[in-house]
Amino acid sequence: MMKVVLLGTGPPFPDPDRGNMSEVVMVDDQPLLFDCGERTTTNLMRAGINPVRVNQLFITHHHWDHMSDYGYFCICTWNYGRKETLHVYGPQGTIEMSDHILLGGHKLDVEFLRKFGRNLPPHIKKKPTSEIPIEVQDLKDTQSVSGAGWKVTAGLVEHLSDFPCLGYRVDSPQGSVAISGDTQPCEAMIKLAADVDVLVHECSFLDEIISERQMKGHSGPTGAGRVAQESGAKKLVITHLRPYVGPPPVMEMATMYWGNDWIGEHIIAKIVTDIRKQYDGEIIIGRDCMEIQI
Ligand SMILES: [Zn+2]
Ligand SMILES: [Zn+2]
Repeated sequence: MMKVVLLGTGPPFPDPDRGNMSEVVMVDDQPLLFDCGERTTTNLMRAGINPVRVNQLFITHHHWDHMSDYGYFCICTWNYGRKETLHVYGPQGTIEMSDHILLGGHKLDVEFLRKFGRNLPPHIKKKPTSEIPIEVQDLKDTQSVSGAGWKVTAGLVEHLSDFPCLGYRVDSPQGSVAISGDTQPCEAMIKLAADVDVLVHECSFLDEIISERQMKGHSGPTGAGRVAQESGAKKLVITHLRPYVGPPPVMEMATMYWGNDWIGEHIIAKIVTDIRKQYDGEIIIGRDCMEIQI
């Protein structure tokens, strides 16, 4: 069994309908978690995956919408009985980022939990381990990590110069999935996603906004469609979508950043039309907790 479970599909923004970025690739009963944006731990629960059972986390880059739930996820799963080591991977600087969060911001929590389990009476068997069971590794371009029946390969994509960003590819005997992270359409992603069953690609902005603002480092519908077409991906799942509709405070805050144009229900249909100009495979507009079977 292999499937993709989208957890958060929104922008770096408090959208009630879409959490910040994260998704899971399930290979049999093993959840491989990609990114850890706001709401990740809660959305794992909503999607029927016990967060304590997640032992592999691959972070694409260190923008807040891809890692702001990291401290919560690590401490929470430790507190609630993590037994197996959580392996964390990410681009250059991930070890440093993890240490700052866990040994800096959460220093008191870590010290508390180290003592908490030890001080419980001996007959209490269910308790946190005495040390935080986490190992963190910085990955380089093209580096791979393997587990039981899966291999994850990292590829340096084209986001922003201050934020090295890794896209990832998962291969298993059941199929293959590629995850873009944040990137402009690029050759590295086309190569990483070659002939995959499912490509999960960001679509942060409409083409018109990218063109008007001369933006780099993100993709619009036609860019994501081109990457899907040129890589030969069988399905394209679009994620990292801004709120095009929502209650007044959402639209007020959203339009400060994205402008007053291009809002309304019809924008999703326009995104599909724009992708179709480049890509002739299956198009899926992602939403939180959606499952895509491989
Ligand atoms: Zn980013
Ligand atoms: Zn992002």
